[in-house]
Amino acid sequence: MNREQRRAIKKQVGAEAQEKMSNQIAQFDKMPEQCSACQKDFDRKDKEMVQSWSVVVKQEIVRLFCPQCIATAQEAIDACT
Ligand SMILES: [Zn+2]
Repeated sequence: MNREQRRAIKKQVGAEAQEKMSNQIAQFDKMPEQCSACQKDFDRKDKEMVQSWSVVVKQEIVRLFCPQCIATAQEAIDACT
């Protein structure tokens, strides 16, 4: 393997890593800002909220449910997972 080939491979790997990272950011941007069932506001900076709320991802669609909706509407969540 010569220097040029090695450089080409390194470049390729870097591009893939970058693509993966931008996909993750894109997914985070799709994160709802409210409960998908009751529209209660979600604060992603609130650590307690982040831990108690549930994120459901199905076919690229991100849904978010507050603890109340998880407790009272488990069937609704099951229906969309
Ligand atoms: Zn809710």
